[in-house]
Amino acid sequence: MKIYNTLTNRKEKFTPQKEKELNMYVCGPTVYNYIHIGNARPVVFFDVVRRYFAYLGYKVNYVSNITDVDDKIIAEAKRLNLTEKELSTYFTDKFFEDTIRLGSLLPTETPKATEYVSDMIFYIDDLINKGYAYHSGDSVYFRVDKIKDYGKLSNQVLEDLEIGARIEKDTQKETPLDFMIWRKTDEGISFNSKWGSGRPGWHTECATMINSIFKEKIDIHGGGNDLIFPHHENEMAQSEAKSNHSLANYWMHVGRLSLDNVKMSKSLQNVILVKDLLKDYEYQGFRLLLLAHHYRQPVNFSYDLMNQFDNEWQKMKRTLKLAFVEISINYYQHVRYNDFALDDFKRAMNDDFNCANAITVIHEQIKEINKSKELEDKARAYYTATLMLSILGIDAEFKELTTKQIDDYHAWQRAREEKRYQDADEIRIRLTEAGIL
Ligand SMILES: [Zn+2]
Repeated sequence: MKIYNTLTNRKEKFTPQKEKELNMYVCGPTVYNYIHIGNARPVVFFDVVRRYFAYLGYKVNYVSNITDVDDKIIAEAKRLNLTEKELSTYFTDKFFEDTIRLGSLLPTETPKATEYVSDMIFYIDDLINKGYAYHSGDSVYFRVDKIKDYGKLSNQVLEDLEIGARIEKDTQKETPLDFMIWRKTDEGISFNSKWGSGRPGWHTECATMINSIFKEKIDIHGGGNDLIFPHHENEMAQSEAKSNHSLANYWMHVGRLSLDNVKMSKSLQNVILVKDLLKDYEYQGFRLLLLAHHYRQPVNFSYDLMNQFDNEWQKMKRTLKLAFVEISINYYQHVRYNDFALDDFKRAMNDDFNCANAITVIHEQIKEINKSKELEDKARAYYTATLMLSILGIDAEFKELTTKQIDDYHAWQRAREEKRYQDADEIRIRLTEAGIL
């Protein structure tokens, strides 16, 4: 398998640190609002990564954090007259609901930043002891120029970054590029430390949680590509200082989703929330839309595009359903797969998760279902298509037919053959109500 590594700017052969085990961390949301469809992209994509590795027989440890302490949370809690904890708990639950609504599995672990603050304080203290951080004024800062090759993840040269950083004057810092890892706070939740009452910086939260949970270098660190700098660059810098490694072997970044060519943002009021979109559309169509674009490429969302993928999904579902009913009424029990198609599917997925090509393979199986005359061929294509779809987190969700329904189906066919139209009609109504026809 090959994965494009942001750190080296090329596709690399994937080698896990432990055989058949994947340790993956993906930066999760700051929980002060419902998530929008742009936030949904990494939630869907990394779920596919997780499912695919699981399909390949890996034990997957997929950790995604919840940022539950942040200026935005403080401001929003104040506005709504809630405590920060009340607000963040509410939106953490809503985030999990939306994750499930999107057809994604919950990560294997979802650590909250506030639950790891004592670890963060130890982490920061260790950085100070090692000479990589310093207490100055009310805050603690990380000494960026002690990291050689700082900027390597985001492909930036230290000198250029320094020129940019000089504009922002901060007299407490030794050099302008140093970043805050502990800050004094007068507002909102704060924690006691030897540097006074305050809270950790966001970059330190993720670096610490990865260190606390995995204890060692992980295989994949993921997130949106807007996190490459400064967030991931600074996570990596701290890990190099503390543990002498670059935190992750593979850094994967998902491209942005815009709406009618404009970046989605609350201030522009052009945000579509996941929960609202999925009132009007089935999640499967939305997943097809996202996955039909290569994960590193941008997605330009529009309702035209959404309708197009929704139609595609409805057609696919119709074909699958007819095959499912035919398999059920014939009590066909041989689950077999088309190995050639599965190989094509894997080849696409192994090429840096080329889900668009994987979907093309699924479409070929759908065509096969439509044109197969023999039940055996049809069933094989059906099982192959639904297996591949499930790896993409797309489930057709047909309910097993009961014996009574199968008997009804046969009775309906007989009534039609014998031209007993009134009987046929009555049974047809029952079958339609049960969603079988
Ligand atoms: Zn993070």
